[in-house]
Amino acid sequence: MARVAVVTGGTRGIGKAITDRLKRQGHKVIANYGGNDEAAQAFSKETGIPVAKWDVGDHEACLEGCAAIEAEHGPIDIVINNAGITRDATLHRMSFDDWNDVIRVNLGGCFNMAKATFPGMRERGWGRIVNIGSINGQAGQYGQVNYAAAKSGIHGFTKALAQEGAKFGVTVNAIAPGYIDTDMVAAVPEPVLEKIVGKIPVGRLGMAEEIARGVAFLTSENGGFMTGSTMSINGGQHMY
Ligand code: NDP
Repeated sequence: MARVAVVTGGTRGIGKAITDRLKRQGHKVIANYGGNDEAAQAFSKETGIPVAKWDVGDHEACLEGCAAIEAEHGPIDIVINNAGITRDATLHRMSFDDWNDVIRVNLGGCFNMAKATFPGMRERGWGRIVNIGSINGQAGQYGQVNYAAAKSGIHGFTKALAQEGAKFGVTVNAIAPGYIDTDMVAAVPEPVLEKIVGKIPVGRLGMAEEIARGVAFLTSENGGFMTGSTMSINGGQHMY
């Protein structure tokens, strides 16, 4: 069945692959983005997928953005909380803004989007929320206390909200990607990246499409018995 789906940060990287994949599954997909108009316009032109700009860390903007989508396209049944940023630094160099920005966008964005859409899903008796966490939220990472805390928070958020949605046909799951070949990883210095790849048992970075395939399963009818879980897609880098 075709559903209305919103992918935050859906115009680039992993989000773009998710948006493409959900569209190919027949859903009406809207890609949110944060500020890169050029990338968003190019994406929309290439795919024909509508884009909507707002900051997921802004509570009111999420409520308004989702209300506008619902007015135009109908109730939102699928939300992929994918938008994320990094502000890496060791603790003694990390500013409060670095900390706050990452928590506000990466973790606050999940809360804001759930507030905008979860009550409607619950009322209608069907919904799918997938939150994109990270291997670094599971294992921690040097220079990322902000990012690791936000992503770890996403995994707790997922388990708690899953319990609230379970009786109402709303599943809430997380995907914890390992290192995926996107702009975010391109920003990692080459020598650091080489060391990281050396620790990935399959011997390569992941592809955005490999995360999108996980999302496709979790948002499908077949995924209805899976809730509150974290799907680790990381080439075997972190097993637990
Ligand atoms: P990219 O940096 O390639 O893309 C990020 C996307 O998020 C862009 O579309 C960007 O919009 C959007 N975005 C950023 N801030 C905001 C905001 N405040 N409001 C709305 N949209 C925003 O990231 P990736 O594709 O690499 O990562 C996607 C997700 O996967 C993130 O949550 C990331 O933490 C997670 N992840 C990534 C891994 C990797 O190896 N790449 C590993 C583990 C997790 P715009 O284009 O306008 O800037």
